[in-house]
Parts: sequence; structure tokens; C-alpha cells
Amino acid sequence: MNDFAVNRQTFDEVMVPVFSPASFVPARGEGSRVWDTEGRDYVDFTGGIAVTGLGHCHPELVRVLREQGETLWHISNAYTNEPVLRLAKRLESLTFADRAFFANSGAEANEAALKLARRVAIERHGPEKIEIVSFKQSFHGRTFFTVSVGGQPKYAEGFGPVPAGIEHLPYNDIEAARAAIGPKTCAVIVEPMQGEGGVVPGDPAFLRALREACDAHGALLIFDEVQTGVGRTGFFYAYMDTGVTPDILTTAKSLGNGFPIGAMLTTKDIAAHFKVGVHGTTYGGNPLGAAIADKVVELVSDPALLEGVKQRGEQIRAKLAELNQRFNLFKEVRGKGLLIGAELTAAYEGRAKDFVNAAAAHGAMLLIAGPNVLRFAPSLVIPEADLDEGFTRLTKAIEAVVGAAADAQAR
Ligand SMILES: *Cc1c(COP(=O)(O)O)cnc(C)c1O
Repeated sequence: MNDFAVNRQTFDEVMVPVFSPASFVPARGEGSRVWDTEGRDYVDFTGGIAVTGLGHCHPELVRVLREQGETLWHISNAYTNEPVLRLAKRLESLTFADRAFFANSGAEANEAALKLARRVAIERHGPEKIEIVSFKQSFHGRTFFTVSVGGQPKYAEGFGPVPAGIEHLPYNDIEAARAAIGPKTCAVIVEPMQGEGGVVPGDPAFLRALREACDAHGALLIFDEVQTGVGRTGFFYAYMDTGVTPDILTTAKSLGNGFPIGAMLTTKDIAAHFKVGVHGTTYGGNPLGAAIADKVVELVSDPALLEGVKQRGEQIRAKLAELNQRFNLFKEVRGKGLLIGAELTAAYEGRAKDFVNAAAAHGAMLLIAGPNVLRFAPSLVIPEADLDEGFTRLTKAIEAVVGAAADAQAR
């Protein structure tokens, strides 16, 4: 059946080189374990970058995938379908929203949100109201509009002129936000906790100040919950624990547990500015993705599951505190629920990737969030035994990195 022999090296021969994947090639996953093509197993602390919230090959999701796969995959948006309508109803029953638009990724959900915000402002207030306020170090995706709005200039540079009217402010800086948000502001887009930017929680007072400033100036508040959403923080959406309700919320990553799907959620009045033909997608809202996401949302919105996320988050923090007592590695451990960032001390400045590589060599998969932060985003239902085993392996990996550093110093 396999016509071509492939391995990690094949990547360098056949792929556009925008990624630098690990040296091993995952072949199979179950729950919080992954096996590579050599049969070695790994404890997965990455969850596919906060995507496989229910672990790999969750039996209920596999069942829905099979059943819907034998029923109807794709029908185009010239028709609607039952799974997407059920998914919209379920999401709306759980949130502030009463309108949904489905896409296939976080970037596309944000693209829709930003386009909608521009439409609303221009139609309600006129062509001058186009300024989008965003934050330094934020991440909103890789389309040209979303890298321009994102707060990491390296992702937008070198592609020619960026869309006009975008401003980047320091995150969690209330005074800067109050000063910048004004009559020309069309929207403020913010991650309630920055993910890619280093796992930095938004201060509730800061988020409240954004809400107030948006209300004062008729601007829309967009929460990018692509990473924080669908149970990741121990709340179904992170906004639910901030006391702030956005006008538009974007969600993706965990929404499909790995089946590509994203969504923009908003209210009826705002949605009314997107009329037939104004925006669209071929795949968005297809019955296969929608059926899977509907099951994901049903399972993750269970209060007992969300409580488990908080407990597991505490367990990881306790284990990190223990590691820190022994190795003095972390300047700070941040985050919420099962999105946790451990920032390295000056002694290990810029070396997060070395820990990730060592972890892989010892059978644990781990993420970075910038050069100085180790990021944990495991399955929301990672079994305690896997957590323990993962930390045993991680400890060995840290011993190897720290030992190598001590050896180098002794020489
Ligand atoms: C990952 C991410 C995105 C982009 O999602 P894609 O599915 O990769 O397009 C957008 N915003 C945030 C906060 C993210 O973490």
C-alpha cells in the first residue's frame, strides 16, 4: 500500500521549509501517548499545540468521525446541514453569542472577525473608523491580515505593505490602552491570555478597561480564544472567568480536537452587517467537522471535566515547583488550567528549545512559547499515571541539560 519509503529526512527533500520538525516521526497516538515510526513512546504534554483536548483517537470522537464519514462529509454552503446547526446551537447555548460563522482554522476565524469589525464600524460610523488596536507579542494567525494585526513584527515583515490602521500596544497596560482607544478605533483584538507570546495571563482589570474604552468609543471588543478556548483554562471559554464579555469571540484549536475547524461567535446585531456574499468559505461548517466539534463541545463543557482541568493544572504546577526547588530553573510559572508556561531563569536564557529536545530524547513531548518559556498544553483529560510518567521523563531530561551545563562550566 505504501508506494514511497519516507522518513524525517524526506521532509527536507519534499516540503516547503517553513517548519523544523522534531527528529522523530509520530505514527500513532492514543490518549496522552504517542508512538513514533520506530515504536518509541512519548508522553504528550503538547496536545498538538492545545488542539487535542480530549487526547488522541478519543473513542467517542472516532465513533462520530466514522458515523458522519459514512453519512455526509461535504455539501458546500449552497446548502446547510444538521451537524453545523446543532454545533451553532450548542455553542450559543454555552456563550454570550447568538450567531456563528464557521471556518477551518484560527487564522480564518480571526480574518472573519477583523473583516466583520471593519464592516460594522464603517457602516455604523463612516469610513474613518478603521483603526484596529492589538497588543505586542500577540498572535492571531498567519494570513496577511492576521500577521499584520498580530504583535510579533517578524511574522509580518518582508511581504510588502501591510494593511493600514493597525496599532500595537503593550499588553496589560491599562493607561496605554485608555490613551490609544478613541473615536477612530474600530476594534480591539486581544487574547485573554497570550499563548504564543509566552503564556501571559491578561489582568482582569486590563480586560475590563478594554471593555469600558470600547463601549465609550463604539468599538468592538474581539477576544481571540483560539488557544484559550474549549476548556483549556478550566472554563469553557476564558472570558467566563474575567467578568468581561466580548462582542466577537474566535475559537479553533481544541474545537475539533484535531479535525480542522474554527468559528467566529458574535451577536445578532453585529452579525447583521455581514450580508449574503460579503464573506464566505468553501469548507467552513462542513458536516464532518461540525459533527466532530459538536461532540467535542458536548464532552468538554461538562462541569466535571472542567473541574478536572483545574485539578490537573494544579498538579502540574506542584510538580514544576518541586523541579524548581531542585534545579532552580524557572523565574516564573504562569498560566491557568492546562495552559502553563514556565519561564527560564537568566542562567538558561534562550534555551527552551534545548529542554524540548532533551525531553523528546527521554520520551516526553513539550512545547516552547518563545525562546525562554517551556509550555505545557496537554490533553484536558490526561490520566494521572501519564502525568507522573511524563514528569519522571522530563526530570531525566532536565538532569541531562543541567548536567551538560555544569560539565561545561567545570571545564
Ligand atoms: C494558534 C493561534 C491562532 C492561529 O490558529 P491557526 O489554526 O493556526 O490558524 C490564532 N490565535 C491564537 C491565539 C492562536 O493561539
